[in-house]
Amino acid sequence: MTRNELCEALSVTPTTTFNWQRKGMPKEKKMLQGQSWRWDFNIDDVRNWLRTQIEARTDELKNEILWERGKLMKVVCAWCGKEMGYKPGNGIPKQETHGICKPCAEKVKREANNELYKFRRSE
Ligand SMILES: [Zn+2]
Repeated sequence: MTRNELCEALSVTPTTTFNWQRKGMPKEKKMLQGQSWRWDFNIDDVRNWLRTQIEARTDELKNEILWERGKLMKVVCAWCGKEMGYKPGNGIPKQETHGICKPCAEKVKREANNELYKFRRSE
């Protein structure tokens, strides 16, 4: 269906659907006559996507509350500061623990390999 039809079906404004689109709402390119095209939306796909968004947000809020109560600790990358999820807490509210995220781990490994290479060449 078209964006207007989607807006009507879900009682939302076009602005809302553009915001959803930025966050990954499913859509398909529908070719029209000539070189032109428009986005096409499947109401069931959009509804399912909305449901997963709501579930993800609910989990996020639950974890936030458990973190504030010390039941969970936030795991943060010690290199770049990116949040990487939660670990069981130690009862102390708003605790953070550190780890290393995948991109940083790869970067550190690359740098270590380069240093090792330079070291071997200098021997
Ligand atoms: Zn990182």
